[in-house]
Amino acid sequence: MTGALGEFDLIRRYFRNIQGHADALRLDLGVGDDCALISPNSGQQLAVSVDNLIEGRHFPAGAPAAELAWRALSVNVSDLNACGAEPLAFTLALTLPEADEPWLAEFAAGLAEAAAHFGIDLIGGDTCRGPLSLCIQVMGQLPSGLALLRSGARAGDEVWVSGTLGGARAALDVFDASVEDIGGEFLRAFYRPATPLMLGPALRGIASAAIDISDGLLADLGHIATASGIGIELEAERLPLTQAMLDCFGAEKARQYAATGGDDYQLAFTVPRARGGEMSAIAKACGIKLSQIGQCIEGEGVHCHNLSTDQTGWSHF
Ligand code: ADP
Ligand code: MG
Repeated sequence: MTGALGEFDLIRRYFRNIQGHADALRLDLGVGDDCALISPNSGQQLAVSVDNLIEGRHFPAGAPAAELAWRALSVNVSDLNACGAEPLAFTLALTLPEADEPWLAEFAAGLAEAAAHFGIDLIGGDTCRGPLSLCIQVMGQLPSGLALLRSGARAGDEVWVSGTLGGARAALDVFDASVEDIGGEFLRAFYRPATPLMLGPALRGIASAAIDISDGLLADLGHIATASGIGIELEAERLPLTQAMLDCFGAEKARQYAATGGDDYQLAFTVPRARGGEMSAIAKACGIKLSQIGQCIEGEGVHCHNLSTDQTGWSHF
C-alpha cells in the first residue's frame, strides 16, 4: 500500500502493540517477520476460524471505525466461544481505500480496546489498498477432545440460549431510520455484540451441541438439528427480549426479530435434561442470562410454536 503514510510505518504505528492480553499465549515471534510463531500448549487443541466483514454488505458505509473494529473482533471471538475455546491470538487482513490517519487511529484504538476485553493478541496480518474490508482470523485453545460441536444433540435434550435476542436486527431499522434507538441499545447490539465470553469454555463436557447465532436463531439451530439428526421445538414466548425491544416493536414483531434476525452472537446450545439444573450456576458464574427456550425431539427441522409469521403457529426451517 502506498500513500502519505508508508505501509510499514502504518503497521508499526497502529498494529504492533495490540498484545499482552492473552495469558495462555506462548508467542515466540509476533508482528514484523514473514510468520508469527506460537508454541502450542500441550494437551490442548488449536481452534481456528476466520470471518470477513465487507463495507456495504456486513456494515453500512461510513460506520464509525472503532465500532467496526469491535464488531470484526467480536464476531470472530464468538466462533471460538461457540466451540468452547478460549481466545489466544488473531491476525488482521485490512483493505483500505486510503491510509486515512484519523480513521486508522480510531480503528486501532477500538481494536486495542476490544482485544483487551476479549483477552486476545494481534500477532500478524496484511494491509493493502482497495474497497474497505476487514478479515480477521482467530486462534484459540481448548483441552483436546472437548470441543462443543453442532452434531451432539439428542432427542430429549433441552435447548438454551444466552443473553437477549433481536437487538442487531433492530439496528437495521435504525440504519434506515424507521425506528429510534432510544437507549442506544440496538446500535450497541450491532456493533458490540455481547458474545458471552466465558460461556463456551464453561459448557465443555456439559452441552451436547452449541452454535453462535449469526444467521438467526432458527437458521442456526437448524444447523444443530441437521448435524445431530434431530428436530427442535421452540416456544416463541420463551425467547429472551429486552424491554426496549418490546417497547419499540411489540411482542409479536420483537419475537420475529429474535427468532430470525441474526447477528446476535449469543450462543444457542443443547444440554441433556439431567444437567439442565446446572445452568443457573453457570449463568451466575458468567454474569449472564441463560434461558431455556425449547427441546430436542425425534424428527427434523426447527419448529417455533406461536411465532406469528405462520397462521398455524408453527414456523419450519
Ligand atoms: P509479507 O509481505 O511477508 O506478507 P507484510 O509486508 O504483509 O509481510 O507484513 C509485514 C509484517 O507486518 C508481517 O509480520 C505481518 O504479519 C504484519 N502485518 C501486516 N499488516 C498487519 C496488520 N494490519 N495488522 C497486524 N500485523 C500486520
Ligand atoms: Mg503480506
